[in-house]
Amino acid sequence: MDNNTLRDNFREQLANVHALTVLTVSFVEIIGYMVLVHYGIQQFSADNRYLRYCVVLPILVNAVTHLAARLIVHNTSVPRNAKNTAIIVAAMITSFVVAVCHKEYIVTSCAFVFPMLLSAIFSDKKLLNASFLGALFILAGVWAAFRLDGTSTLTTTLNLLVLVAFAFVAYLCARISINFSHQTYTTIEWQEREKDWLLDHVRRDQMTGLYNHAAFVAQLNEMAEKASKDNPFCLAMIDMDDFKHINDQFGHDCGDDVLVYAANIIRHYSGKTGIAYRYGGEEFAIIFPKKTAGEVHDVMQEMLRRVRNHRFDFDDKSITFSASVVEYTEGLTSHTLFALADQTLYMAKRAGKNQVLIAC
Ligand code: GH3
Ligand code: MG
Ligand code: MG
Repeated sequence: MDNNTLRDNFREQLANVHALTVLTVSFVEIIGYMVLVHYGIQQFSADNRYLRYCVVLPILVNAVTHLAARLIVHNTSVPRNAKNTAIIVAAMITSFVVAVCHKEYIVTSCAFVFPMLLSAIFSDKKLLNASFLGALFILAGVWAAFRLDGTSTLTTTLNLLVLVAFAFVAYLCARISINFSHQTYTTIEWQEREKDWLLDHVRRDQMTGLYNHAAFVAQLNEMAEKASKDNPFCLAMIDMDDFKHINDQFGHDCGDDVLVYAANIIRHYSGKTGIAYRYGGEEFAIIFPKKTAGEVHDVMQEMLRRVRNHRFDFDDKSITFSASVVEYTEGLTSHTLFALADQTLYMAKRAGKNQVLIAC
């Protein structure tokens, strides 16, 4: 699962947490109101300010906020960052509504940690900064509400100042958490890249850069297992002709140069879809997905022409190869397919080398 999918799942869970928060707040509002009425602290009346501003209003605002956030989160045309922001803004509005409507319970002002926590989960510094400003805005809103209804005291002001300090500490902790997750993510990404590099390294032949024998066997098995009438493939085997002569006559270094040259040509003619391997020594293989034997035969002929026309500085004679082409047919296994390719290659050698034969 990639990082974005992981965050999409988290976002969905966080939207559910917001829904739960809104339901819990609504439930507590109603129960709290009933308790207040029961003990005669509040009364049902036509003009019940508490019922309107501290029960109905927060429930309505929170419900509408949640629905709006849900719509944004589920809208496929909205970018991921905007969806994250929608959740944080919803959390901020809920925190603000709860803190201001119930300012007499000063502890409700601590709801500002909710959006900060979400920003930390999204590992988003910009959202965290916005949440911190939102926290200050919530606390300022609570203070203004106290001032407006004339119930502000020195204690409430001091309490709010302490909460500003709390908000700052929460902000610092969330920043450290974001830095930590960024570093962890970078480390994991680096380890993944290193693992990919190592995996590729062990699957390649160091001299030619082509995939090696082990990679060939694994891929051929996989291709043969997945192959069908609608999903055919071809195998081409290549063996350099009289290669031993080159080593004997011009030395191993020249032999190596020929192999590197051959590998480059083979890679080039494998095209975008073919996969080239150094099977071993001076033998190569190419797996061509979704190609017929006829098509591969043409490619191999062209490749042979190219190699034959090349002149190495150490030799004035041309170098050639023999090759076989086998097309997958139903019922073949990787073993029988390879055996057929090997047998056909042997026939090409016996028939005078310097040629490409299709297995029959
Ligand atoms: P044929 O036409 O029948 O294929 O004859 P050939 O000489 O090509 O085949 P043979 O199997 O007799 O010899 C292959 C030679 O390839 C023997 C070996 O020394 C040489 N060889 C294998 N790997 C390397 C390599 O990495 N570098 C060099 N320079 N030579 C290699
Ligand atoms: Mg050989
Ligand atoms: Mg050979």
